[in-house]
Amino acid sequence: MAQTLLKVSGLQVAYGGIQAVKGVDFEVREGELVSLIGSNGAGKTTTMKAITGTLPLAGGDIEYLGKSIKGQGPWDLVKQGLAMVPEGRGVFTRMTITENLHMGAYVRNDKAGIAADIEKVFTIFPRLRERKDQLAGTMSGGEQQMLAMGRALMSRPKLLLLDEPSMGLSPIMVDKVFEVVRDVYAQGVTILLVEQNASRALALADRGYVMESGLISMTGAGKDLLADPKVRAAYLGE
Ligand code: ATP
Repeated sequence: MAQTLLKVSGLQVAYGGIQAVKGVDFEVREGELVSLIGSNGAGKTTTMKAITGTLPLAGGDIEYLGKSIKGQGPWDLVKQGLAMVPEGRGVFTRMTITENLHMGAYVRNDKAGIAADIEKVFTIFPRLRERKDQLAGTMSGGEQQMLAMGRALMSRPKLLLLDEPSMGLSPIMVDKVFEVVRDVYAQGVTILLVEQNASRALALADRGYVMESGLISMTGAGKDLLADPKVRAAYLGE
């Protein structure tokens, strides 16, 4: 069986006295695309933030490549191959597209490799090439999403965490984003995808987890969850 890249066990996260994540277990193995779905406020983003070290744990542990990464921040994690595209993208609005892409490569110093990877990102997202000298803050939501994904790819991640990449985008951009997720996965990057768009996320996923009120309520193969009447009723509006 493939190596476990990420293992979350008994994860608890609280905001003050309010427990948002109440003891969550899941794992992502090398080469998988795993989707975490659930409604608004279920605790998906909080879980992602705990993994990337931007929120402290109230309990449990997170292992990456067999070692606890509790307490490590985004910088350390990116160096080890764990990159995240946060909800709301988080691009550097006063920097150009090209400068943002260089920021994504801050853990590397192979100049030629970086230049080649910028070319690759421009091939995946021709729109970014057209706008390469434009300030990121002046780009549309969809363009900023492409840039955030391109920037994460610049670190050559082993594991890519994507938090709601389709949120707030037009239907055409949603199609484009899911197409890119599928392509990046096909190139061998392991992906943990958090989405409210359950049907699209489960259709792509090897496995999925359903999160409800701070707990995992169901898990299974993506296609099995997609066919499950309870999932269809709760998350696909049927
Ligand atoms: P969404 O899709 O809306 O982002 P989510 O599943 O990602 O939903 P979270 O954002 O993780 O959910 O929120 C989980 C719970 O934690 C919610 O009840 C939310 O109100 C609460 N919460 C999130 N951020 C904070 C915060 N900064 N302070 C207090 N409570 C918070």
